[in-house]
Amino acid sequence: MTHAAPHCEQFLDQLRREFPTFRVIHKRDDRLSRLIDVALKVVTLGGQDEYLTRYHTVIANRLYVPTCWDDEDDLDRVIVLRHERVHLRQSRRYGFVVMAALYLLPFFPIGLAYGRARIEWEAYTESLRATAELRGLDAARSPALRAHILKQFTSPAYGWMWPFPAQLSRWYDAALAEIEAEISTAGGRAGYDAATP
Ligand SMILES: [Zn+2]
Repeated sequence: MTHAAPHCEQFLDQLRREFPTFRVIHKRDDRLSRLIDVALKVVTLGGQDEYLTRYHTVIANRLYVPTCWDDEDDLDRVIVLRHERVHLRQSRRYGFVVMAALYLLPFFPIGLAYGRARIEWEAYTESLRATAELRGLDAARSPALRAHILKQFTSPAYGWMWPFPAQLSRWYDAALAEIEAEISTAGGRAGYDAATP
């Protein structure tokens, strides 16, 4: 049973307007997702074992959601959807074949997937921006959020796609500074406005 999520529903409507064939699919009900889950466990030697339970995935104009989706807070879902909207727009920008090469094969080469890292970096920057806009700058400055995002690049989650913490820290600091500047000049109301459902 899903709890009320008005901001999420409103954002999903926006996504459907921008991407008319957009659909949300639960991974647990989807055979392809279960196959990908097994493949990921094999190539990461069990390091990525949360594909079905914690990770959201965009393939073409479909968003595959994990089992935790139903329990997620309304604003947390919007933050996830803003990350995934970046991937939908990347797909449109690069075309399906290029995106598939960059996105569907994130694990090769293991430990050095620069294309994937850049694609995810753009999307995680949007996660950070959405957090700042919806939860406030203090939430965006959280060391726990920083550690969580950087870990996505350096851990088996995405096949150790960019295991260079010093460079990632520089990217992170620059992105956060840019978002802080955007919010201070826009009065904290750039883009999606959470206060007006
Ligand atoms: Zn992503």
